[in-house]
Amino acid sequence: MAKKTTTSGICYLVGAGPGDPGLLTIKGKACIEAADVLVYDYLSNAEFLKYGKPGAERIYVGKKAGDHTLTQEEINQLIVKLTGQGKVVTRLKGGDPVLFGRGAEEAAELAEAGVRFEIVPGVTSAIAGPAYAGIPVTHRSHASQLTIFTGHEDPTKSETSLNYEKLAQADGTKVFLMGIERIGQITGELMKHGAKPETPVALVRWATTGRQQTLIGTLKDISDKVAATGFKAPAVAVVGDVVTERDSINWFENRPLFGKRVVVTRTRQQAGVLSQHLSVLGADVIEVPTIRIEEPNDLLGFGELVQDCHKYDWIIFTSPNGVDAFFKMFDKLYNDARSIGAARIACVGPGTADKVRERHLAVDLMPEKNFVAEGLVKAFKDNIDVENQTILWVKGEETREVIANELTGMRAIVDEAIAYRSVPEREENLEALARLKSEGADVITFTSALTVEHFFALGVDLPENCLIASIGPVTSDALKKIGKPPHIEAKQSTIPGLVAAIEKHFAK
Ligand code: SAH
Repeated sequence: MAKKTTTSGICYLVGAGPGDPGLLTIKGKACIEAADVLVYDYLSNAEFLKYGKPGAERIYVGKKAGDHTLTQEEINQLIVKLTGQGKVVTRLKGGDPVLFGRGAEEAAELAEAGVRFEIVPGVTSAIAGPAYAGIPVTHRSHASQLTIFTGHEDPTKSETSLNYEKLAQADGTKVFLMGIERIGQITGELMKHGAKPETPVALVRWATTGRQQTLIGTLKDISDKVAATGFKAPAVAVVGDVVTERDSINWFENRPLFGKRVVVTRTRQQAGVLSQHLSVLGADVIEVPTIRIEEPNDLLGFGELVQDCHKYDWIIFTSPNGVDAFFKMFDKLYNDARSIGAARIACVGPGTADKVRERHLAVDLMPEKNFVAEGLVKAFKDNIDVENQTILWVKGEETREVIANELTGMRAIVDEAIAYRSVPEREENLEALARLKSEGADVITFTSALTVEHFFALGVDLPENCLIASIGPVTSDALKKIGKPPHIEAKQSTIPGLVAAIEKHFAK
């Protein structure tokens, strides 16, 4: 019987789902946020670690076949020890923690040691994997029963706990995990005991992630197909007539950018928006942040200009970063939104305008379609008499001078508020660059001339056959200058415009 608990520590045994970051449960996320220590595996999505509180300790105990970082016994001891010290320990496991996850053994050790624990179920690859390949594990017309078994045990050895005779005769759908290495023996045993050789089989590798691959066959031919295609673990295998449903409901792999690996080079903070747009369309996104936004060299000078913002007729924003930096300073200086005065606001494009509108401020002027400095200048020319108007232009240190030059030429009085500077991002890129090198990419995206400059300064070669996608003419010019003209250029210089251009390219 379990002992009464004695410490204030607690260990959460959390199922992190099969890979798609959206398949972590709300409770699982709360456990990560609460953790003093995160203990995680190879298959659980490393992206979740970002939910950890700052300073939370992270311990990788990952298990990849043949490469056990810690033995199960050592893992058990580790979580018992940490929890016994009064810590909140979140133990993340791939899929569901108690379906072939040895979660029960860890729970038993914690119970035995008298420390508190909870089991937080997760979305298992055994069900989600097939679902993401368009295969329901049960179906009114095909299967009312589901058998899940492990392919890890050698079916030809006498000590196996699996009874292949019973398995072969079981009605309905069969799913097995960890079975790729032994696929020939497993299908052989099933057929030997009476399963029909033509029974449909699907293998789903890296299910629910951008790298998902599905191999379809029958009990008879699937192992030859595995050998012929070099299909590898981790994969879930599903056997039964339900596999045929894939013909009509294969939703995940039919998204427009599925199977395309796309590199995003923006700042870490900004990458998310572009990455999300691409992921929704099915792309496998690698973020390689190449620039970081820092405070301007003359922060004091910037502050003085922001302080005087209400004195201007116009405030011009030419980047979302500028809007962020401006209002960060504004909020330090003022406690009243009205301190911005009656200045009218102009923005270079929709992304920048959205940031302004987040502050509940209206945008008075924006180009109709050409969302670059020249477009904004034209919008002024066509609509506003700027003679003697005072203009505060909020910009980055590296922003081209077009706006100041042109508007001054139109007799406006322009002050430049340098809000930020862009510096090369050197940290945290290693893992992404290694992936880029080993797996290659289909498209690399550039959203500014600066991302072009800083990406190529990293000295990384573009993968073979990798297409270059540019957000618009200015970025394209920067690419042409270094002899790498883009293959894809957005019609509208916005993030949705860039994504649409990539989608259109592959729709051909
Ligand atoms: N507890 C996990 C299973 C752990 S056993 C769960 O509920 O999903 C590890 C096996 O799970 C792998 O060998 C593979 O067969 C399967 N698996 C886990 N994640 C997977 C994924 N994203 N795609 C395909 N198979 C996966």
